[in-house]
Amino acid sequence: MPGREMLSHGGLHQSYNLLIIMAKKDPTDLTVEEKLKTLYQLQTILSAIDDKRALRGELPLEVQDLEDEIAGLSTRMEKIQGEIADFDAAMSQKKVEITQAESSVARYKVQLDDVKNNREYDTLSKEIEFQTLEIELCNKKIKEAAIKVTEKQKDLADTEALIADRNQALEEKRNELKEIMQETRDEEEKYKVKARDLEAKIEPRLLSSFKRIRKNARNGLGITVVQRDACGGCFNKIPPQRQLDIKMHKKILVCEYCGRIMIDPDLAGIKSVGTEEKPKRKRAIRRTTKKDDMETKKDDTETKEE
Ligand SMILES: [Zn+2]
Repeated sequence: MPGREMLSHGGLHQSYNLLIIMAKKDPTDLTVEEKLKTLYQLQTILSAIDDKRALRGELPLEVQDLEDEIAGLSTRMEKIQGEIADFDAAMSQKKVEITQAESSVARYKVQLDDVKNNREYDTLSKEIEFQTLEIELCNKKIKEAAIKVTEKQKDLADTEALIADRNQALEEKRNELKEIMQETRDEEEKYKVKARDLEAKIEPRLLSSFKRIRKNARNGLGITVVQRDACGGCFNKIPPQRQLDIKMHKKILVCEYCGRIMIDPDLAGIKSVGTEEKPKRKRAIRRTTKKDDMETKKDDTETKEE
């Protein structure tokens, strides 16, 4: 039957097309435009991951600050406690001295009853006077120390209250951070999945050179949008001819100053800044050859990823 024949022929044709599509999936078969777009998408995702990590890196600093403050307050508390203990010990010592002086006075007073002469009487009297003064002095010292202890105890209570307050703040901050950390981690995981999908689309050599550029770049940008006729990574002016080449989307071009891959804002889906908007000419022919679409040196691209 002619109909069936047509059908089977169509089916064959379809599977042939499918083969072509499958073959197309090979990352090396992407056009330069597609490669650049994919790299830019990957860059966006990787930057988002970088941001999440940076955020997580900064957040614990708040907890660290509180912990440091509490540690400082605890040291202060221990110092006050030590001072109180010292005053207490001094007071105890003075009380012992008072007891000793009092017993001396009592003993001398008994001896006074048995004095043989005036000289002995005078000596004992002076000794009693001296010991009495000692007792007065000790009492004065004890009183002063007691005042200090009262002051220190207030200071201690204030410090303890402050520590309790800071501990509560720390507890709250820790819980808050735990949540944020988990959130950013979950988001990062989602981004990582997206990044892996994109990475699979990019040929390994291009991907590894992109990653190497990104690793060496301070802001983590391996591909950057041309802005105001300059590289968006290092802000150095791009020569007119090179700008034109970038606009052509025919080659993967890197900045001659910083080595970052450069992408035309239009291709990146970003409104160009500082350049006059010209009606875009649609490119009719898509390049499929890849031989010269990489301008980065061969030995560069072959550097292994760390
Ligand atoms: Zn640059």
